[in-house]
This record gives sequence, C-alpha cells and structure tokens, in this order.
Amino acid sequence: MDDVAIIGAGLAGLTCGLALQRAGYAVIWLDKSRGLGGRLATRRLHNTRVDHGVRYWAPSHPKLRSLSQQLVEQGVLQPWPVQRYQQQQGRLVPQPLAQPVYSAELGLNAIAKALAAQAEPQADGFYRQHRAIALQQTDAWQITCETPEGSRQLSARAVVMALPAPQILPLLADQVAQPQLAALRAVDYAPSLSLMAGFSHRLDLNAEAWMIEPARSSPIDWIGLDSSKRGADAPPALVLQSRADFAALYLDAPDLQTAVPPLLQAAQQVLSDFSIPTWWQIHRWRYAFVQRAYPAAAMTFDDRPLVCCGDWCQAPDSAWRNLDAAYASGIAAAEAVCHLISVAP
Ligand SMILES: Cc1cc2nc3c(=O)[nH]c(=O)nc-3n(C[C@H](O)[C@H](O)[C@H](O)COP(=O)(O)OP(=O)(O)OC[C@H]3O[C@@H](n4cnc5c(N)ncnc54)[C@H](O)[C@@H]3O)c2cc1C
Repeated sequence: MDDVAIIGAGLAGLTCGLALQRAGYAVIWLDKSRGLGGRLATRRLHNTRVDHGVRYWAPSHPKLRSLSQQLVEQGVLQPWPVQRYQQQQGRLVPQPLAQPVYSAELGLNAIAKALAAQAEPQADGFYRQHRAIALQQTDAWQITCETPEGSRQLSARAVVMALPAPQILPLLADQVAQPQLAALRAVDYAPSLSLMAGFSHRLDLNAEAWMIEPARSSPIDWIGLDSSKRGADAPPALVLQSRADFAALYLDAPDLQTAVPPLLQAAQQVLSDFSIPTWWQIHRWRYAFVQRAYPAAAMTFDDRPLVCCGDWCQAPDSAWRNLDAAYASGIAAAEAVCHLISVAP
C-alpha cells in the first residue's frame, strides 16, 4: 500500500505529490486522462501543437517564478515576446503586459511533463487513464478506478483529491458530512470553449506574436496567435477562447460544432482580414475558471486522512488565482497530509 494517492495530476496534484515525496512519503498519482497536467493542456494536430487550455505562463507566486527560471534554463519555457491588444471602439489598442510572459515551444503541457520528471520513481507512480469512481475508507482508503482494461482497486493511507470541486462531489457524496458537501457545492466555475484554428496565410498584426482581448460585447474573451509560440516555421494557428455566457449555451449541446460559426463570425469583427480557417477543432471546458472559491487553501475533514485541493481553494486573504492558486493549494494540501498522517493512530 502506498502512503498517499493523489487523484488528479494537474498543477495542484503534481505540486502536492512532489512536496510529499520531498517529505519522504510514497506517492501515486491517478488521472482520468492519457496525459498529465489537466488544464495545462496541449493538443497535437495538423503537424503542429496548440495550447487549448492555459493561454500562457505568467505566474505571480514567487515559487512558480523560480520554477519559470529553472524551466527556461532547461529549455522547456521561452519568454513569449507577445504584443497585447485590447479592442476598444473597433480598434486594436496596444496594452502593456503586467509581468513577463512565457510560452513553451512544445506546448504548455511540457511544464506538467517537466514536473512529472521530478517524481520518484519517474514512471511507476503515475496511473494514467484511471478515473476514480468511488472511494471507501476502511483501515486504509480503497479507490475504485475505471481504466481501459476494466475496473481496478488501489489503496493508500491518505487520499488527496486535486480536482475541481464539482468533480469531487460525486466521489465524496456518501463519505463526508452535509456541511462539507454544501461547501463543495457552493464552489462555482465558469465554462469556456476553446476553438483551435489553422490558416494558410500569416497573421502578423504588426507583431509576430500577439494576443487580443476583444470588446465586452464579443462572445470571444481572448484570441492568441498560438503558432508564434512554436518557432518561425510553424503553420499559422489561432486559439479563440469564449466567454462563459457563450460557453454556457453549448455546455450540453449534442454537437459542439454548432458553436463554431458564431465564434468565427465574432473573430471577423475583431480581425479585419480574418478568413475561414483551413482546419479547426473545438474543446469544451466545463470547469475553466473559478467564479466562487472555497475560503481556505485546502479542505480537510477533521482527523481523516483526506484532503481536497485545487484552484478552487483560496484562503480569504490570498491574492492567488488560477495557476497560482492551484500551486498554493497543492502545497497547503501536502502540509495538511503530513500533519494528518503524523497524528493518525
Ligand atoms: C481555457 C483555459 C485557459 C486558462 N488560462 C489560464 C492562464 O492563462 N493563466 C492561468 O493562471 N490560469 C489559466 N487557466 C486556469 C488554470 O488552467 C487552472 O487554474 C489550473 O490549471 C488548475 O489546476 P488544478 O490542478 O487545480 O486543476 P486541473 O488542471 O483541472 O487538474 C485536475 C485533474 O484531475 C483529473 N481528473 C478529474 N476527474 C478525475 C477523476 N474522477 N479521476 C481521476 N482524475 C480526474 C483531470 O483529468 C485533471 O488532470 C485557464 C483555464 C482554461 C480552461
């Protein structure tokens, strides 16, 4: 039996597990996906790669800033010389960047791969395509997982659930008390759609790397020239990320392709020489950005060796959001687990 099973290998889960390994615990990670990193997501398509989750890497947390430096030295990250524009009264107005912005030539998912490479033992601790579907606490925790080969049981002394709160709820529904379930239910996420689109002509816009924040009336929240992260010869590709209210209209649409024409039309209102892409793919993020957080850096359940974390856990006095919040929460969860295991009978 392992000491700690981390369910969810996004930034929060990876951070938590690595901190626990440094403290001497045996850790395994389970993730429902084939890859690691969660919303640090990159898709390979049409002879290129596209970041369809996190837009760019610009952390504020001092520990993540030093990680940026390490990853630059390792060649994983590069400064992204991006020009930021805001659409104001139909014009694209250049804006300053608040902080240095990084991208990864192989896609931002490379950050998750670099973190996973720090784990011990490197390959054995990661159970990919393992979707946790039930939890039971006996002497230890029994975790039932769905895998491509069928159902599988894993056990551990402690469990960390590093998932969006709405994905934790069904797993803990018959495990924890009503007030804790109510606190999980109170967490709210905004959805987003990411449209990835390729073009046969250059899309320079007076800058080789650019991103645009369209006017508030647009269904598009953000457009980035994704191909400018991939080197000079990369085929031109954009990522368009929708606003939450637009995504909400399509969350349960049987055919997500119906969201594509209105997004392409909206892009034409932002980019004057916008033409129909040569290819596109669209992805639905049901839990993209935290709207209402849980007011602590991690969620604990009295003395039980069970901790929840993720970007939705934000201490009331904390300035951390999104990736910074996921990181801070992963560290807080690791500290909580160390305490809980040390007091366990
Ligand atoms: C389109 C988009 C753009 C964004 N852009 C930015 C940005 O530019 N900057 C920024 O700071 N933040 C951005 N964010 C937010 C950022 O991605 C998140 O705050 C952060 O990645 C959350 O990390 P996490 O580890 O908490 O969760 P996640 O990354 O969601 O990780 C959760 C993991 O749990 C796994 N999982 C879920 N259910 C199960 C289960 N039952 N069993 C096993 N595994 C399971 C998932 O596969 C996933 O790997 C963006 C998000 C989106 C969607």
